[in-house]
Amino acid sequence: MVVKKDPTLCMNSGFCALRQATLEQILAKDGDPRARLLALSMIERCPSGSLIYALGNREPTIEPDLPAEISDTTEITSAGPIAGPLWVTGRIPIERSDGRPFETRNRVTLCNCGHSSNRPLCDGTHRREAERLGRSRAQESRKGEGSGKRT
Ligand code: SF4
Repeated sequence: MVVKKDPTLCMNSGFCALRQATLEQILAKDGDPRARLLALSMIERCPSGSLIYALGNREPTIEPDLPAEISDTTEITSAGPIAGPLWVTGRIPIERSDGRPFETRNRVTLCNCGHSSNRPLCDGTHRREAERLGRSRAQESRKGEGSGKRT
């Protein structure tokens, strides 16, 4: 099995790592069919399409069969649900705001918050933004409570 990663597409969703092992460590268990199946399912769950695989160097790439859909995603974080990227699947053509076409792909995650430094792609910045907003809301609420005590 040949696994390829295009880091420019990755949005750090983390589907390619478990608590106990990374995808690289799982792939290193050459000859273990359970490890191979686990690796395949991790690669196929990669939402951005950063990870793909083939059954040999000259073999065609194998991608999951996904419907032509645009999904507005929500991510569940330790601080609660936050808005995630737009998940575009099924080779829907995408055009940049300047009219240039984006490579038509089986799956891709697009920036939905406007803060990605890799637009039109998501780079995971929405998580940092959500944390920043959460901290500033908590500060505001503490200030409000403090002023309430004085009156
Ligand atoms: S987008 Fe794909 S390659 Fe990037 S962290 Fe998620 S699963 Fe891994």
